[in-house]
Formats: sequence, C-alpha cells, structure tokens
Amino acid sequence: MVYDLIIIGAGPAGISACLYAARQKLKFLCVTKDIGGLANFIPEIDTYLGYHYMSGYELVSKFRDHLRDYSVQACMGGVKSIKKQGKNFLVNADCGRYETKSILIATGRGFKKLGVKGEAEFEGKGLSHCAACDGPMFKDKVVAVVGGGKSGLLSTLFLLKIAKKIYLLEKNSKLGDHVSPDIIDAIKKSKKVDIITNADTTEIVGNKFVTALSYKQNGKLKNLNVGGVFVEIGYVPHNDFLKGFVKLNARSEIIIDKENETSVRGIFAAGDCTDIQEKQVIVAAGEGAKACLSALTYIMEQ
Ligand SMILES: Cc1cc2nc3c(=O)[nH]c(=O)nc-3n(C[C@H](O)[C@H](O)[C@H](O)COP(=O)(O)OP(=O)(O)OC[C@H]3O[C@@H](n4cnc5c(N)ncnc54)[C@H](O)[C@@H]3O)c2cc1C
Repeated sequence: MVYDLIIIGAGPAGISACLYAARQKLKFLCVTKDIGGLANFIPEIDTYLGYHYMSGYELVSKFRDHLRDYSVQACMGGVKSIKKQGKNFLVNADCGRYETKSILIATGRGFKKLGVKGEAEFEGKGLSHCAACDGPMFKDKVVAVVGGGKSGLLSTLFLLKIAKKIYLLEKNSKLGDHVSPDIIDAIKKSKKVDIITNADTTEIVGNKFVTALSYKQNGKLKNLNVGGVFVEIGYVPHNDFLKGFVKLNARSEIIIDKENETSVRGIFAAGDCTDIQEKQVIVAAGEGAKACLSALTYIMEQ
C-alpha cells in the first residue's frame, strides 16, 4: 500500500496537518513519538486564538478532541530514516516501514544538552530546562542557571521571585545581548544573582537529587553547592534523520520555501523544525495547515 502523505510528528504543526489531511480525505498516516510535543509543557498560554489562559496540556487535549471527529491512522514511534524509492519515498520508523507519495515533517525541536557528566542522570531530579514549568519546585533554594543568552536571562528573571539565590553561568565573557537592557539591568542589580562569566560547566553532581555543579574558569575547576540547575543553552531541531537528505541551515533547521516545500520535491515541513523565525504554537499550527495544503496540490499534480 502506498500512502498519499505521511505526517511525521504530532505537535501543533503535525496535528493541524492531520486535521487538514483528514478533511481532504487523503490516504495518510501520522508517525509520531508522542501527541502534543513541546506544547504539552507550556505552563500557561494566552496567544492561541479562541482560548483564554490555559495550560499547553489543556490546549493539546482540545486539539485531540477535535481530531476525534475524523479518522486518523497513527503509528507511535520515531522515524529513523527516509529514502527515495522511485517516484515515492520510504519512511523507516520504529513502528514500521511505509511507502508514500509525499511527506510532511513536523518534528519540532528539543532542548540543547550540555553533554557533561551527571546531566542525563539528574534530568528531572533537580535538572530542568524550563524555569516557567519547574521553577516553583525550587522555592527558597539556591539554584544555578546555565546559559547567559535570552533563555537563560528570562529564566533568571523568572526565578528571582522564587529562588533564594541564583548563580548565572555564562561560558563567554559577557551576557547575551538579544534581550531588553531592562532585563539585564534588573538581573545585574539583584543581590540574589551572582553572574559568573567564562564559566564552562563540567559536571552536575548529586545523590538522589542535584547537590552541586562544577565548572572550569580560566583553567581552574570550581564548585557551587546548588539544589537545582536550569540548563538554558538553546534548542536543537529533531532533524538528525534528515541530514544529507534535505537541506538544513547552520542551526540544523529545515530550509523551506513559502509553500513549505523543502529542497526535495514532495517533502514538506512545518513548525519549529523549520527555518521560520517565530516558534509559537499558533504559528506552528498555521504552518502545518499550509504545508498540508501544499502537499495536497503536489499529490494532485502527480
Ligand atoms: C517552556 C516553553 C514555553 C513555551 N511557551 C509558549 C507560549 O507561551 N506560547 C506559544 O505560542 N509557544 C510557546 N512555546 C513554543 C511552542 O511549544 C512551540 O512553538 C510548538 O510546540 C511547536 O510546535 P511543533 O508542532 O512545531 O513542534 P513540537 O510541539 O515540538 O512537536 C514535535 C512532534 O514531533 C515528534 N517527533 C520528534 N522527532 C520525531 C521523530 N524522529 N519521529 C517521529 N516523531 C517525532 C514529537 O514527538 C512531537 O510530537 C513554548 C515552548 C517551551 C519549551
């Protein structure tokens, strides 16, 4: 059996694409590792039209409810590779191998890792990537924020209201400048924050929970006793399986044109995994719809 379309990922972009594909009665399959993607972790969202303040998880439940009215075939698993098979494509996933006329990639992005000892071990045990989600668990604790770029500074600002003390570690000689000077001023003025520049994190230490963080500064190994670590060093698109197959930019984002088509004819992409500037739920959902309609045109032309 050959599908018209395989949608990879079921975050806001993928779910929206599924809705359009179902309404167009395409023969399609959604291959995904989960339902909702990063949107599940948004503590509160008020920028999705039609829905006032709600958690990302609640919004995803609304998306699921909407899809229940349609028949959507899903395969729960990760895609490992894609290859060309004549005019069609072969999608190789944990949950099966499928042939399709076209593909829509909506795999989003994940948090960048430090790649140091203890990081994997203490993930969720004092190590977090989201101050807005997990911050309240660190009330009156001493914490470290790793990363002095936009995400790290915004997290530090958020934690000012919660934590007892914050060490802000930046590996370069100064904090990032893509943030309003008011935010940087507020952080610099706060007696709660110690800014440590030229700090290269080397290890997350703990027992059952994080207890310390080690870093190197000017060749010297130093240690901070902390009850929590927020790693805020940016994001990486989930595009590893596409390397060498579709064109990616220097940030590993999929390069798309205004029809959401990638460098490979018949392969479309939408949402946070692409090179669009705005990484937002409402944008991802709109892009998913747009990409699906472009795929539909492509399928009809075939
Ligand atoms: C802490 C935080 C707060 C945020 N706050 C807001 C906010 O207030 N407002 C807002 O609009 N946006 C916010 N965002 C951004 C928003 O979450 C994203 O823009 C949105 O989720 C992107 O949707 P997406 O569908 O492109 O990707 P995702 O939501 O990341 O979904 C990707 C999907 O692809 C699947 N997948 C990944 N790799 C594979 C693979 N190899 N095979 C199969 N499936 C795969 C995943 O399982 C998932 O289902 C926030 C993000 C974070 C992290």
